[in-house]
Amino acid sequence: MSEEITVAPLHAVVVPFPAQGHVNPLNNFAELLAMRGVFITFVTTEWIHQRLLLAAGDHKPKDRGSNFRFLSIPDGLPPEHGRTAQLDEYLFALQSLGPALTSLLTAADKSVPPITCIVADSFLSCTAELAKNLGVPRVVFWTSCTTLAIMQANTDLLISEGHIPVEEEDLKSKDKLITCLPGKIPPIRPTDIMSFYREKHLSDNLYNIFLHESRINKMADYVLVNTFEELEGGKEAQMGLSFNGCPALAIGPVSLPNFLEGRNSMYSMWEADKTCLQWLDTQPQASVLYVSFGSIAVKSEKQLHELALGLEACGYPFLWVLRSDIAEGKPMELPEGFKDRTKDRALIVSWTEQLKVLSHPSLGGFLTHNGWNSTLEAISMGVLMIGWPYFHDQFLDCRLAKDIWKIGLDFEGVDADEFKLVTKEVVESKIISLMGSSIGKKLRENAMRLKEAAKKAVMEGGTSYTNLNTFVKDMKNMNLYEDN
Ligand code: UDP
Repeated sequence: MSEEITVAPLHAVVVPFPAQGHVNPLNNFAELLAMRGVFITFVTTEWIHQRLLLAAGDHKPKDRGSNFRFLSIPDGLPPEHGRTAQLDEYLFALQSLGPALTSLLTAADKSVPPITCIVADSFLSCTAELAKNLGVPRVVFWTSCTTLAIMQANTDLLISEGHIPVEEEDLKSKDKLITCLPGKIPPIRPTDIMSFYREKHLSDNLYNIFLHESRINKMADYVLVNTFEELEGGKEAQMGLSFNGCPALAIGPVSLPNFLEGRNSMYSMWEADKTCLQWLDTQPQASVLYVSFGSIAVKSEKQLHELALGLEACGYPFLWVLRSDIAEGKPMELPEGFKDRTKDRALIVSWTEQLKVLSHPSLGGFLTHNGWNSTLEAISMGVLMIGWPYFHDQFLDCRLAKDIWKIGLDFEGVDADEFKLVTKEVVESKIISLMGSSIGKKLRENAMRLKEAAKKAVMEGGTSYTNLNTFVKDMKNMNLYEDN
């Protein structure tokens, strides 16, 4: 694949929300810009930067080319704070980082080109103040799908139409469809709306924090989404994000071109287990169920116990990521004798190199929380999913995978009640449906089609590839605009 190299000294300041599922896509995106000759300043908080350094071993975030620098600032929270585990306080603290970011980026540094634009995560309203102070455009980067981005940015419309707060009764209704949103997106259900907007969260801080973020996001100068046109309604879908006529482009999956070309652009907050891939090599083709709920989702000890017994009963080999905080902040205690009984067909680890795992020929399915990165990575690798959403956009991603793209299954009733206990029998039968039935076979054909479409989108001449080049060309105009 050849890359278009620009000669103008373009400089993008890329600011991810400091959490695993946001650093990965923004870092991959930054890599793709750097490949096109753009100078990158990647700004994180000291807390996450230290975690990434610790977990990276030899593959340190600072070891990059000459047109890539990492900067970090304190997030204002004490070291013992749970960050994403205390999400409302975390988001609230980050909302006040505008002045610190401004001082960081106005400190004179003649060795780097003048800043062209800020590319900011859609969770970081503080970057609006930064862009204003620096007098440069703010590009909002959505690490979610377009459908979610349109919903989130149109929170006020959904409130005025009476769809937010989402009432308990509406959550149970299978028939109610919401069609008032712009952009060519599928009609959504009340259960698809971001979970923080449910009636039961009305008095929570998160409700108001996300409302604030949605209002600031509508003031974007440019919009980029980590999705691809063939997946979500073509160019017209993205137009639903074109506030005040600003460009809105799908440029994903941003991790795929880096993966295909052998660039390691995934950074983790945990050290990945190195034995997974060798273990997968020993398993039959398309036989292994991969079980992982991303970096934030937790479950009760009771639920994890049912899951373990369901995995045992299904009979398939499984690779299970059990983070040390998975049992509502604590490590999980496995059922007695479980390790012994499953040792010939199970591997339990605390973190993996997920993209490599998903691309392995032994993979047969993915039991996932449907975080957008995990969903898009599974799509990129043609892997079928069983969705088990936990919060925020995961209910929508799960529904799209099951009903619109037809590449997955879900557990009945979890969309309306995330704490519904899924029994071991249900876990077992769902895995068998996915891995060993004619239903799974049909879904697999769809997954293979989408995998090819994703690859085509990011290759030279593909929609996402072309859109990214358009963005780089538009960056040159941002420079001209500044000069005038
Ligand atoms: N991930 C990983 N190893 C694991 C589990 C997850 O590398 O064992 C990565 C995964 O590839 C994805 C990110 O962590 O890029 C999780 O993002 P996602 O949006 O799926 O979920 P979140 O963690 O934000 O809930």
